[in-house]
Amino acid sequence: MISQHASSRGPSSFNNPRQAAPLNPCELEIDLFCKGLRIDKATRQKVRQAQRTRAGLGSGLELIIPGSFKDIWANAPTEEEFVQHSPYLLRQKRGGFVVLDQASDFRYPVRIEAVPDWYERPTSRGVPMGQVGNLQGTYLGIYIGPVCRYWVEETMLNCKFCTTGLNVGTNEITKKSVNDVVETCRTAREESGITFVHFNSGFQEGRDFQMARPFVEAVKRSTGLLVGLQLVPQRDLSLYDDMIDLGVDHFSFCFEFMNQDAFRELCPGKEATLGQETFFQAMEYTSAKLGKGRVSGEIIAGVEPLEDTLRAIDRITDCGAFPTVCIFRPLKGCAMEDYPPPRYVQMRQVFQYMIESCIRKRIPIGIAPNIEVSLVVQPADALYLAPPTLSSAAYRLYNRVLKTAMRPVFRRRMQPRKENDNESRQPAN
Ligand code: SF4
Repeated sequence: MISQHASSRGPSSFNNPRQAAPLNPCELEIDLFCKGLRIDKATRQKVRQAQRTRAGLGSGLELIIPGSFKDIWANAPTEEEFVQHSPYLLRQKRGGFVVLDQASDFRYPVRIEAVPDWYERPTSRGVPMGQVGNLQGTYLGIYIGPVCRYWVEETMLNCKFCTTGLNVGTNEITKKSVNDVVETCRTAREESGITFVHFNSGFQEGRDFQMARPFVEAVKRSTGLLVGLQLVPQRDLSLYDDMIDLGVDHFSFCFEFMNQDAFRELCPGKEATLGQETFFQAMEYTSAKLGKGRVSGEIIAGVEPLEDTLRAIDRITDCGAFPTVCIFRPLKGCAMEDYPPPRYVQMRQVFQYMIESCIRKRIPIGIAPNIEVSLVVQPADALYLAPPTLSSAAYRLYNRVLKTAMRPVFRRRMQPRKENDNESRQPAN
């Protein structure tokens, strides 16, 4: 059922077969997610400022891997035990940084951006903005609401790969006011040039949409940012109509595993309160409403059998959504901490399948301006893996044309609403 593959470990044998050629930027991103990145002591001093405090999938080091077709943002694991066996070592070199593969001797130049100054700056209520939201690539991620209710001590139905219950209230403040969020969003837009804010929350016992509504409403009105929502799915699908009317630009649905045993065993709360089918229904409904490429289905690769992950990709792309595939990271402190990380060869297969599926079904990717996600291999990153066929060339052209055509639409959509400007400068709650 759930694969626990053996992983070769040992300081003298790096977990990388000898390669004939360097990896392309997407392959490097995948391999870094699978093996992690060591940082030598001297370099660690230099990158301390870039290491963000957020736990969970964003606990690693944010890197930018330059590429001919596009640059890639990746949050490389640095903290977990498996990282000690990685062949990848970060070194400072002539004012820049390189990732050295000590198994093959290939060197990959990377960029590391400093943590934004505004992280330390307080909101008008005195909360450091970095505790309200964090950049994860070029977008702002904000957890709203109290700790996910699956983490309630009496029941403990939390997902086994998750550390949210350990982080909210520690690395992030528990109670974020609407005004904290609006001020942070506005600052991130002005100073870091973000275009997109992604709200997520765990299970909130049916109050999820009620809780998210004021945040969405105020951020859309006051900042004009594109807004994504990642909440547990609702059985009453008409609730999505209200959110679409408010201006939500994107929904994502984390069903995590296609394999039903894996879903039941590793997501006990989702199994007990929602069931996998509820995720599919909400994903299909919103995708039909918003159109192709506006909704995503989020899954974890590297735990369930490969064929189930490929089936999940089919299920997502069949309804016009795009896959958001996280490479499993055995986070410190989570119940699956001792699981081995996935293997590169399998993960490369997953992402090649993902991009081929997007190409076959003409799912638009990378259309919205400046949204780079460091926690996952985005479909646009996976274009590096697309076979050089006529159909993949036509798909690239299709996305380029669409992106250009949509520019004025996004410009209009991202205007803060002027008539409410004065009001938007007032505390929203
Ligand atoms: S729903 Fe699962 S993954 Fe999401 S916060 Fe709750 S326990 Fe974590």
